[in-house]
Amino acid sequence: MLNDPFENARKQIDNVAKYLDIDKKTLAKIKTPDRVLKADLKIKMDNGKTRIFKAFRSQFNNAKGPYKGGIRFHQNVSESEVKALSAWMTWKCSTVGIPYGGSKGGIVVDPKTLSTGELERLSRAYMRAFYQVFGAWIDVPAPDVNTTGQIMAWVVDEYQTLVGHQEPAMITGKPLELGGSQGRTEATGLGGFYILESLRRKWKGPTLPKKTTIAVQGVGNVGYWFIEFAKKAGYQIVAWSNSKGGEYKGKKITNDQLLELPVDVLVPAALENMITKENAAKIKAKYIIEMANGPVTPEADEILFKRGIVSLPDVLCNAGGVTVSYFEWVQNNMGYYWGKEEVWAKLKKIMDRSFAEVWAIYQEKKVTPRMAAYILAVGRVVQAMKLLGR
Ligand code: NAD
Repeated sequence: MLNDPFENARKQIDNVAKYLDIDKKTLAKIKTPDRVLKADLKIKMDNGKTRIFKAFRSQFNNAKGPYKGGIRFHQNVSESEVKALSAWMTWKCSTVGIPYGGSKGGIVVDPKTLSTGELERLSRAYMRAFYQVFGAWIDVPAPDVNTTGQIMAWVVDEYQTLVGHQEPAMITGKPLELGGSQGRTEATGLGGFYILESLRRKWKGPTLPKKTTIAVQGVGNVGYWFIEFAKKAGYQIVAWSNSKGGEYKGKKITNDQLLELPVDVLVPAALENMITKENAAKIKAKYIIEMANGPVTPEADEILFKRGIVSLPDVLCNAGGVTVSYFEWVQNNMGYYWGKEEVWAKLKKIMDRSFAEVWAIYQEKKVTPRMAAYILAVGRVVQAMKLLGR
């Protein structure tokens, strides 16, 4: 079942296992979530009728620290998707060496069809269903597709009411007024920019930013801030796009055309499955910085690697977001807050170190950069499990 996201996630672990010293039992354990919870959330709609929404939480692995992962509100949420995303969160946190495991949650709903009141009741119902498995040192949720700072605020309020004490560190992505971190808005794009800077010091491309051409697909939160920081450093953003299409050197282009431009760096920052086996042979960029989650399919990854195109993986490139979520949790636990500059300086250290670690494995083992990141990430989790005697 190629399109079953969790089967894909499991296959990836099998592939990495070949490079690691893992016994059969441990391998089986790291291919299975620790716990998957399901609930039917009953909500009173504005018209007085009751509707039921399916909800999930998958806690994949907590050998490295409390589970960490967002809550997604989307009509396509499924148990398989939530489980796969919880595995990928485990590897992302481990790639950048922050002390978390991985989890993910979701509700099958199109939030655009709900009123504000219905959305609030649904968000609170999610927390009521699962609050016993959440907590600052148990499982720390965050926003994901279609979930916002306001939703995090309702969720933390519901949690604190149920447990009877203040615990802002039980969730991240909160509004600043409720203990959110300075610098979180820009964090994912900025983290990607730090990766670009590290890559430029290693690559065979232009030595100067002003000679380096970049195309960015998707100018949402992530793409926008990536472009802002790159432009400020002098890089040439020659093309950009959104869901309606884009521009290349002032001329209108389609999203498909953007992906195939002759640029030094291509930055997919929109959605998953953008570079596939159908268009991988036509990519002309020499380097890809994956800012979206899953923009390159596994088949495309192989084709790019054989063609000598270096595609730096999402678990590394977009980890700036979860890293500043980690800083939010640290600040909440201390009750002491940092300014934006301090947050960004700490983010830079983690992104620079993580790039160097992934790059070293990529060079040494001659594998794809994605495999290099997975060798690092899965290896760390397996090591922690061994030490814990699991
Ligand atoms: P967003 O909703 O703010 O922006 C998405 C952008 O993509 C929009 O500009 C939209 O117009 C564009 N888009 C949609 N469909 C497109 C298409 N077919 N072609 C080109 N552009 C298209 O979302 P975001 O927060 O910027 O997230 C973008 C990606 O980054 C997602 O894959 C997300 O999972 C990932 N990500 C985000 C964060 C974060 O902190 N926001 C962290 C890690 C990963």
